[in-house]
Amino acid sequence: MERVQSKNLCSFFVNPKACIGVIFGTVAFCFLSSFAGPVFAEDAGGEPRWHTVHMRVTAYCPCAKCCGEWSDGVTATGHKIFQGDRFAAADRRYAFGTEMVITGYNNGEIVKVLDRGGAIKGDRLDVFFNTHEEALQWGVQYIDVKIRG
Ligand SMILES: [Zn+2]
Repeated sequence: MERVQSKNLCSFFVNPKACIGVIFGTVAFCFLSSFAGPVFAEDAGGEPRWHTVHMRVTAYCPCAKCCGEWSDGVTATGHKIFQGDRFAAADRRYAFGTEMVITGYNNGEIVKVLDRGGAIKGDRLDVFFNTHEEALQWGVQYIDVKIRG
């Protein structure tokens, strides 16, 4: 049984070193966040853990204005953008695939981090829209983002 469990934990990662890095990163994160207050104090057993971060959320689309020469319809993860696509771009503190619930985006459904933005630093996020008009409509919003993990 033990062998199976450890395989599950690492099966996502091709490189076992990367897996160890993630484990250490998680431990370090938990250690650091224990200073952040009572929000992290409770561990609800097997429940997936979410925490909320107040973020500056801007929007972008695949147009040249938003993406310049990088407007090739493919995100930093190799994800091919489709019509009606919804995902987020974050800085490196949030791993690709990190699940988030962003107030007012994607009908409150979970979206994943599938892209990176060079200018995105700190408590900032970019949400994706197919058209520049939709991105402009979003504008800049300071809202709560629920993050899994
Ligand atoms: Zn645009």
